[in-house]
This record gives sequence, C-alpha cells and structure tokens, in this order.
Amino acid sequence: MYPIRKGRNMGELDEIIEISKRRGFFWPSFSIYGGVAGLNDYGPLGSVLKDRIYREWKSIYAEIGGIEIDTPSVTPENVLKASGHVDRFLDIAVGCKTCKTKFKVESILADKGVESVPESVESARKMIEEVKVKCPKCGGELGEPFEFHLMFPIDSNGERYYLRPETAQGIFVNFKLLLNYNRGKLPMVVYQQGKGYRNEISPRQGLIRQKEFNMAEVEVFLDPETNSVFKPDSNEKITLLDRDGQTHTKSLVEAVEEKIIGSEDHAYFLQKTFEFAVRIGIDRNRLRFRQHRKDELAHYSKDCWDLEFRMDNSWVEITGISDRGTFDLGNHQKTSGENLSFEGEKIARVIEPASGIDRMFMAVLISAMKKRENGYNNLSLVDYMAPYPVAVLPLQKKDGLPEKAREIFSKIKAIEPYAYYDESGAIGRRYARQDEIGTPYCITIDYDTLEKDVVTIRDRDSTGQITGVPYKDLLTHAPFLSNPILRRIKNSRQ
Ligand code: AMP
Repeated sequence: MYPIRKGRNMGELDEIIEISKRRGFFWPSFSIYGGVAGLNDYGPLGSVLKDRIYREWKSIYAEIGGIEIDTPSVTPENVLKASGHVDRFLDIAVGCKTCKTKFKVESILADKGVESVPESVESARKMIEEVKVKCPKCGGELGEPFEFHLMFPIDSNGERYYLRPETAQGIFVNFKLLLNYNRGKLPMVVYQQGKGYRNEISPRQGLIRQKEFNMAEVEVFLDPETNSVFKPDSNEKITLLDRDGQTHTKSLVEAVEEKIIGSEDHAYFLQKTFEFAVRIGIDRNRLRFRQHRKDELAHYSKDCWDLEFRMDNSWVEITGISDRGTFDLGNHQKTSGENLSFEGEKIARVIEPASGIDRMFMAVLISAMKKRENGYNNLSLVDYMAPYPVAVLPLQKKDGLPEKAREIFSKIKAIEPYAYYDESGAIGRRYARQDEIGTPYCITIDYDTLEKDVVTIRDRDSTGQITGVPYKDLLTHAPFLSNPILRRIKNSRQ
C-alpha cells in the first residue's frame, strides 16, 4: 500500500510507517483485499497510544472547565447546507491524461513553489498553464481541472445525509442545550473527539492524509462584546510565521502586544495547543505556528493559525486554531429558525482549536524515535504515554525463572493493567523489542529473585540497570509509574 523507500533513502516518515506496521502501531486497512488508499487501522499498540493522546487532550480542556459531548457522524444535509459545507467544501482537482491519477491543484502548485490557492476552475486552469505543470507521477499532460466535493454522501430512504467532515457542527447545533447546561454563562468551552471524513483526492503519507481520521475539536464560545477572558501567560519564545511570510520568534504574550496575533483569546488557545503537543511528547523544536493567507482560509474562518510539525524537512499542519467568528451560530439560527442567541440578541463568537489526532500520533512517534549507536531503535516516549509502562521478563526460560516471573507479573498487573510479559528469545532481543515500542521500564527476574526476592530494573533511555530491588517495593504504588523507585530512575535521566 505505502510506497516505502528502503535503506539509506528512507525518510523519517517511511521509517515510522515501517516500524508501525511491524510492531503493531498502525497499518493499511483491508490489506487482504489490496487495501484502500487513505484508510488505516490502529493496531494493538497504536490503539493504546491514541487513547493516551486523547486522554491528555481532554485533561488540558477539562482543567480549564471545558465540557465534553459526543454526537453522531451521520449528519443530515440541512445541517451541512447551513454550515456552508454542501456548497463550499470543495477542492479543485485535475487528472493526468496518461496515467489517470487525480491531484489536488493546490498541492501540485505548492510543489512548484506557487503559494496561492485557485479560487475557481478557471483560475486553476490559468495557473496550471502559467506554471507549465505536468503530471507529478508520470510527467504526462494534465486534463481539465474540476471541482471535487470533499464530503461522503449517504442516501437513505430518499433522504440525503453526509458523513461529518468535522465534529464541530455537532457542537454548534447543540448550543442552546449546552448553554442551558452551563447555566446560561459564557465563556463556554465544549470539546468533542471523534471521526471526521473527507474524500481526499490523493490520500498519502500513512496517517497524514486520510479519508477517515480522528479529530479532537474544541469550540470556545465567547461574548463578542466583552474583552478577552482568556489571556496567554507563557514567556516561551515560539516561531510564528505570519500571513505576510514574516517570521517572528516571540512569546505568545509578546505576539499579542505587537498585534501579530489578533486577540488574547486566540493566542491563549495557541498556547493551550502548544502545551498539549509538548505534553504528549512532541519535540517543541520541531513546532511552529503559521497564519493562513487570506486565500487559504476555510469558508467559515476569519483568521487561522496552524500548529505545524517539521517532518522530513517539510511542515505539516497538526492543529488549526481558527477564529470562526459568529459564522456557524449565525447561519444555524437563520436556517433552523431556532433562537441561538444569548443575553438578548447577541451571537457568541467562536475560537476553535481543531487537532488531528492521527497527525499528532505521527508527530509523537517521529519525535520519540532515536537511533542507538548499535543501529537499534529506541522509542523514547514520555513515560505516561507508553503503551506498556512496564515489561516483566525472566532472564532465561528455565530453572523456575518463568514461573517466578509470572507470579510477580500477575501482582504487577493488578496495579498496572498494561504491564506486558515476555519470555521468548534472548534477553537482549527482548530488551530491544521493548525499546522499539517505547516501554520505559523492564523488570528482569533472575537467580537473585529466586533466592532473595529482588529484581533488576532496566531503564529504556539510559539502558542502565539497577539490581537488587525488592520486588515488593514495586507493588506499593498505583498507578505503577508513580512508584518512587521509578521516579528516581526517571529523574536521573535528565
Ligand atoms: P481542519 O478542520 O481542516 O483545520 O482540520 C483539523 C485537523 O484535522 C488538521 O489540523 C489535521 O491535523 C487534521 N486533518 C485534516 N484533514 C486530514 C486528513 N485528510 N487526514 C488526517 N488528518 C487530517
């Protein structure tokens, strides 16, 4: 399914895709039938890591008083008509006359260094002619550009529905009920996780561009007449690329003072997004914010800053933090006839940090992957993100060691359900396997365990080993990672 470059030309992304398939993070869906571009499965390790990413995201917004909802993916046409998606959620595409591959015109122009988005089929045709673009795959001549609708329609009993292209609309249509729940008070922060669906013309790069993907969206409803209630307070210098192409290295506080970012509320949610990325282990040195040019803005957006991650020396959007103004509530009020105002006639203004969890997931893996001098991989995940926080390994598969190891394992498992047990193969290979899937601690059961009830703890990142630890001392704390012995090992890494 994925064209993977092998050996020395293998990029970061290719390498992660290869390891992910081999170790069970993710792989192409329906592969026994040849697979479908843009559809992927999370495997046993990936499912856990994805949930841990969601857990951190939820706690970031729960910490500031947010509330969560969960609404359907199948969405009636009138909702998406009101939101503008039925008429405006389109890409302009073009097909190759020779190999018949279809491309998004914006992407093939960007590959040629043209940084503007065609607004119509006519302007796409002109731009393709001017830049003399050929098929990026076979060099053939390109055909007529055409509009390509990004939503998946579902027709049932004479009614039309769509699979939702974003989870946001499920929140907007519930504004009244949510406001009531929130005792009629703004600001109100509502978040929703769930699948989003987009009929991407050319899905690619593993989890980066898919037809079905995992979203984590937050709608922050604000009183349009009061001054900012959310204010950034971080002094960390961050790279900000504004819509005129100017790069600034500023804190978000400075960026507001210098009017690089339009409002404190908007900057605050850039800060929260950055905090989330760093908390799950994304390398802060590979992050920047980029403001959308006017011609890039989605139909609902007044201003948008993307958090971008550097991968294989190019930048990929992982979260869009958009100022949606009153666009959605205003349109739903007009179309549904329901009163969606508050305090009289006021319509709430909305800031939306919308994260793609799959892209975050890739960024976590790429940030964590380190090569050891011996060529082995070490996935240095933040401890609390690791799918298995601990593995229990008997030194050898004889002399009663596996029996003792299983006995200790069952005790550890009672306080850490994601503990893992492995007794097959040489101990060095088993350590290497745990390193590659990011298990921060291995507990080795050896002959001293049989005699003195002590175990060896091996630390993933330093590969250092601490011997003679009474195993009972590892059973004193839940969650397992809060054990003082492990915390000491962790602190000694820094
Ligand atoms: P958007 O609403 O377009 O700003 O998308 C929000 C987030 O969803 C983006 O920042 C991406 O991380 C993610 N995303 C958008 N489209 C896709 C896709 N086709 N495949 C995977 N993730 C996506």
